[in-house]
Amino acid sequence: MGSEPGPVQIVTVCKEDHSFALDTEALARVLLAPEVRDKHVVVLSVAGAFRKGKSFLLDFMIRYMYRKSDENWLGDDNEPLTGFSWRGGSEPETTGIQIWSEVFLVQKSDGTEVAVVLMDTQGAFDDQSTVKDCATIFALSTMTSSIQIILVMSPSSSQLFTEYGRLAMDEIFLKPFQSLMFLIRDWSFPYEYTYGFKGGNEFLDKRLQVKEAQHEELQTVREHIHSCFTSISCFLLPHPGLKVATSPAFEGQLRDVAPEFKEQLQSLIPKLLHPDRLAEKEINGNKVTCMGLLEFFKAYIKIYQGEDLPQPKTMLMATAEANNLAAVAAAKDQYYKNMEKVCGGDLPYVAPDSLEEKHHFYFREALHTFSSTKKMGGQEFCERYQAQLEKELEEMWQSFSKHNESKNLFSAFRTPAVLFVLVCL
Ligand code: GDP
Ligand code: MG
Repeated sequence: MGSEPGPVQIVTVCKEDHSFALDTEALARVLLAPEVRDKHVVVLSVAGAFRKGKSFLLDFMIRYMYRKSDENWLGDDNEPLTGFSWRGGSEPETTGIQIWSEVFLVQKSDGTEVAVVLMDTQGAFDDQSTVKDCATIFALSTMTSSIQIILVMSPSSSQLFTEYGRLAMDEIFLKPFQSLMFLIRDWSFPYEYTYGFKGGNEFLDKRLQVKEAQHEELQTVREHIHSCFTSISCFLLPHPGLKVATSPAFEGQLRDVAPEFKEQLQSLIPKLLHPDRLAEKEINGNKVTCMGLLEFFKAYIKIYQGEDLPQPKTMLMATAEANNLAAVAAAKDQYYKNMEKVCGGDLPYVAPDSLEEKHHFYFREALHTFSSTKKMGGQEFCERYQAQLEKELEEMWQSFSKHNESKNLFSAFRTPAVLFVLVCL
């Protein structure tokens, strides 16, 4: 990466024709960095209507990731808050998805290391012309994340779920998503439900109880939520103070932030980002690596490029496709790395017979990796990807083999006898 870490725009919505674009290269630069590409990924995304303080919250998470060993990680009183761009005013920025360029490696208490991606979404849910754009951004972030935080300001019962309700994916996935957290901001009834997870979860339980008298649509959404997410929680956050909410001069300095807000942030963020709470992204029971996540992004963006919001079936197909492509990518990577160790780069020339033997061995291993990954889409579907994998491995083999031959020539050139012949010619 080299340069300073910062936000990377990976999905943009074109204002004119509302088309979606994925910056595959930018995303690949982040997800395929050598230290993280093979690691299981945790994607924490923050969604919600615009100007709800998503970026503001994420910036405190970034601060925590960089300074968690420091007791005073929340920062100094006068320090401006930096990270994802956040600002006052009523104009939303570009609609889209950004991720933090640095993927954080975190060790869990069982010793496994996971790669944490922080994702910010931008959209104006309230502007009618862009409802579809925002629903898409929301759906994309839900489908690609393992921890989804939804920011809501007002706890009025229906509003809590309207944004969620747009994502109708019934019947298909077994708990497709991992963890959903409602973060209710500007909570002003602490005497009814206390700030934090305790009051939040009590409040949520009450709200999620399905009552006979409720509107049918609302009932469905509630039942649906439980069937979709492995864990659901809620946190109540107090108002941050008037300077945060209204002052144009506010740059995130803690001196302008209400003490009870700071106190709750100090409790929320370390819990949220506690290593053992960081749920890895799973699809169809497989943990997804950073490299795999890239495939899922590519597949999902395709289905959102049409006119209408995709049908659940289309999403399932896209998931199955990405799932297979991720398995192909992992198998190829494995083959490549193994062969690199045998004959890559500056390594000396290897006798062709011996190299071919190695190739056969690693080729079989890569196919084994592919076939032992749990995949979706049925036998026939997966066979197509296996054929693709075999073809691509074959191409890689050709190039390894050629590269090896070139070394042979090279070393031959260096022997005086050949040099002599060349001079004579
Ligand atoms: P985003 O569009 O959701 O990313 O919102 P921003 O993070 O850019 O914040 C929008 C505005 O809301 C900024 O002026 C923040 O100072 C302010 N803000 C941040 N957190 C809160 C909060 O908890 N309550 C209120 N009322 N305002 C907040
Ligand atoms: Mg923002």
